[in-house]
Amino acid sequence: MREEVSKDTSGPDLARALYHVGIDDTDDQGGGCTTYSAYKAIKELLANGLDVVDFPRLLRLDPNVPWKTRGNAAVGFSVLGDKQRIIEIVQACLRESTRGLHSNPGLVITNRSQRVKIRSVFSGAVSRLLNPFESFEVLSRSGAVVYGKRRRSLIGAAAAACNLLLVGDYSYELITYRRSELIGTARRISGSSVASMDIEFHDATFNNLFGFMQCVAPHGSDPVLFGLRGEDPRSLIRAMSLIRSEAPSGWAVFVTNQGTDNHYQDMPLKSSRLGDSLSLRGSVAGFPRVLKGGHLTVELDSDGGKITAVAFRESGVVRDAVAGLSPGDEVMVMGGVKMQLPLSLNIEKLKILRTVPRAILRNPVCRLCGKRTKSAGRGQGVRCETCDTDYRDSQGVAVFVSQGLPPGLYLPPSSSIGHLTKPLARYGREKREREFRLRRFSFLN
Ligand SMILES: [Zn+2]
Repeated sequence: MREEVSKDTSGPDLARALYHVGIDDTDDQGGGCTTYSAYKAIKELLANGLDVVDFPRLLRLDPNVPWKTRGNAAVGFSVLGDKQRIIEIVQACLRESTRGLHSNPGLVITNRSQRVKIRSVFSGAVSRLLNPFESFEVLSRSGAVVYGKRRRSLIGAAAAACNLLLVGDYSYELITYRRSELIGTARRISGSSVASMDIEFHDATFNNLFGFMQCVAPHGSDPVLFGLRGEDPRSLIRAMSLIRSEAPSGWAVFVTNQGTDNHYQDMPLKSSRLGDSLSLRGSVAGFPRVLKGGHLTVELDSDGGKITAVAFRESGVVRDAVAGLSPGDEVMVMGGVKMQLPLSLNIEKLKILRTVPRAILRNPVCRLCGKRTKSAGRGQGVRCETCDTDYRDSQGVAVFVSQGLPPGLYLPPSSSIGHLTKPLARYGREKREREFRLRRFSFLN
């Protein structure tokens, strides 16, 4: 893994060291406000002559935490400059952008060595619920600059400060912001322009449409006009120019873990706990059962343990695939641990690895005694062992047991896919690692 180039903290120019800033100021409203606070802070830092380097990072945290937060986002960015000035500018922007909102922003600023101290603990925030007391203890001991009252916001902020998204898959999101006088009014954005953009940039963007509906624009009263998710910053900027909408006040490109599946951890069932996002291999232990509302449950044996996997009706073809499972089928389920006792997992994605035969060979019954006959050997008919009768010309017939979907990957419809879940469009586009750009950030306006 390549990290920051060494010229940042060594040498006499210590005042212009590299700092990693993390903020998390919304718990219920998704990423809109957090990216906006970061966007404002970055613009202000640049305007004051400080060098914001690399891309700002939109980090989606574990979506399977017990409290329901669809967004669950934190934002990080890296700045070359004087620590005190960074703190002053970022704090002023946070105060300004959260004024009048019921939010308690968390802010964490680390230097290089502090970042290394907290990294191993906070990298887990993408996949699991961190212990707030333990992780806060690690954060306090690290010497990082910490502002904020709520431990949950601070965990998000620390995770965004230390996770530079350099290892593993990543994607980008270009976010445009509304003019302040329009915030709270209905967004004016042309759905057909989003559809044409989707056609032209189908290789470089994803999650633009649900069916025929555009889904680049949120619905709430946050400052986001629309967000375009994709594979590289330059394509996103060109894609933006095709969208017809109200004039945005500005935009920025974030690097992000969205659409990567990076939250699914391979871990044995026995060490998993409430809130974990898991990728689990198992074999089907019984026929699926239908719950009220059309949801399905199926028991899985995995790694010597048992887990109840749940497929919700909204998961579409995932649920259909679960409906066709038979005992003995081998599957990989990806999802979140929703209950500890009994251990239950909410299936977000399903991969059917191998299915047991759906038809069994059944021999005829003996015409004399009525008992089931047995095969007498290949090509030799069947034989009744009870009354010693051979039926040379008889053979078993295939009996239909159940119908199932074939091995393969099953994903929910795009309307119910989570931010972190890799959509079908991104299969084959995965990236391995990213280089930290020690250059001034210029992908914004
Ligand atoms: Zn018989």
